[in-house]
Amino acid sequence: MEIKIIRAKPNQMKAKPEDESKLGFGKIFTDHIFTMQYHSDRGWYDAMIEPYRPLSLDPTAMCLHYGQEIFEGLKAYRGKNNALFLFRPDRNIKRMNNSADRLCMPRIDPDLFMEALKKLVLIDKDWVPRSRGASLYIRPTMIATEAALGVHSANAYIFFIVIGPVGPYYPQGFSPTSLYVDEDYVRAVRGGIGYIKAAGNYAASLLASKLAAEKGFTQVLWLDAIERRYIEEVGTSNIFFLVGNELITPPLTGSILPGVTRDSVIQMARRWNIAVSERPISIDELMDASAKGTLKEAFASGTAAIVSPIGEIFYKGKATAISGGGIGALTEKLYNEILQIQYGEKDDPFGWRVPLSD
Ligand SMILES: *Cc1c(COP(=O)(O)O)cnc(C)c1O
Repeated sequence: MEIKIIRAKPNQMKAKPEDESKLGFGKIFTDHIFTMQYHSDRGWYDAMIEPYRPLSLDPTAMCLHYGQEIFEGLKAYRGKNNALFLFRPDRNIKRMNNSADRLCMPRIDPDLFMEALKKLVLIDKDWVPRSRGASLYIRPTMIATEAALGVHSANAYIFFIVIGPVGPYYPQGFSPTSLYVDEDYVRAVRGGIGYIKAAGNYAASLLASKLAAEKGFTQVLWLDAIERRYIEEVGTSNIFFLVGNELITPPLTGSILPGVTRDSVIQMARRWNIAVSERPISIDELMDASAKGTLKEAFASGTAAIVSPIGEIFYKGKATAISGGGIGALTEKLYNEILQIQYGEKDDPFGWRVPLSD
């Protein structure tokens, strides 16, 4: 399918933000949007890049009632000499199709998806920030648009991609987070939809996050839904622990989102000959390791922050400091290495970087 391009007219174009240090996250969007329609009778059609616009939906559009809504999150980076890169976009495309399968939504042709990503970023390439650490966030989304109130998988969908500049995650340098181990609420359960980026997962996580924030914590540390013992994720990120010389992250058993950053951390650490285990780790094992002094570092991983150091974990009324409440050496090394690959400052032995050119 051809992607039709309708360029925004000068009077439809927005002023670009002047101060990149004030971009924040997810508030500013560019001049164009990619859209593509689906109907079960004809498959995908009308792929186009057009001026950024609101969507028009019937009030009974099924996404508004039964939650067929999936999304992705990735970034474009500007390196030296204005070179632009995507980071492992093939992984996001694959994951979006896995999400579509789980919610009975239509798959998207990976080549067309990739072409849409590249063309959209290139049309709005002047919006990709110039300061190191800032980037262009990319949000592919699919929603059910069929107007009907019976519960069934919809026969009509729209797939769209919006993009917008975002600031560096750590404008003032790394700041370690404090986590609250929630014993009342769970994020996801095996057999459910925790392993896909579906909107409902985030709605379900808000209350626990709010309660943790009210208690003064940065994020929720999620335990498994069945035994309430095994560590799963932190907020909307994956989690890693350095215990002794073993880097541990929970295995992908169905309730954990398979993060692209998680996979990158695993591959990079293995390349450095660090023993990486994808295995269950219980909160008790973690507390024991801390008591014995073998818990050296903990960090969250995700596209937004790359890695985010964890300085403290609060469980059953007790606070446990990690890395003395500071930042572990491995955490910092992983952050720097992945960032340098993303911005084209270092060799890319893994072939993760996808250069963009007109
Ligand atoms: C997006 C997300 C992650 C991180 O995935 P990345 O691909 O590394 O950005 C982890 N957990 C949850 C729940 C997520 O939504």
